[in-house]
Amino acid sequence: MTHDPNCLFCKIIEGKIPSTKVYEDEELFAFNDIHPWAPVHFLMVPRLHIASMAQVGPEHAGLLGRMMVLAPQLALQAGCQPYPEGGFRIVVNTGEQGGQEVHHLHMHVIGGPRPWRRG
Ligand code: 5GP
Ligand code: ZN
Repeated sequence: MTHDPNCLFCKIIEGKIPSTKVYEDEELFAFNDIHPWAPVHFLMVPRLHIASMAQVGPEHAGLLGRMMVLAPQLALQAGCQPYPEGGFRIVVNTGEQGGQEVHHLHMHVIGGPRPWRRG
């Protein structure tokens, strides 16, 4: 499935549900988490509806690689301090026991001055 009309994040990507966008291109979309764990907390999602990391195959390697390459750049733009004093955390919850609540693959990028801790 490339798009799920019932999916919250598909609706956010389409603009049917408002969000605070931090990045978009032809493949990826990033927006602030509505319940941030830390001073910086945004979600990066592929426009393609992939339910979770459990559905990923070799055909998605380029897409996932782009997400990993983009995350540090967007983290700095979003206000994370540079490595090593600053930095950020990347979290990809997968499945019910992995703590995933929204079933559209997403990467949490979390950072900023501590204290903060979750996940
Ligand atoms: P998960 O638990 O699936 O890894 O993370 C889902 C994330 O989506 C949560 O951190 C939650 O705060 C965020 N979220 C849920 N609904 C919305 C929404 O309507 N808008 C935004 N911006 N984030 C949402
Ligand atoms: Zn979706």
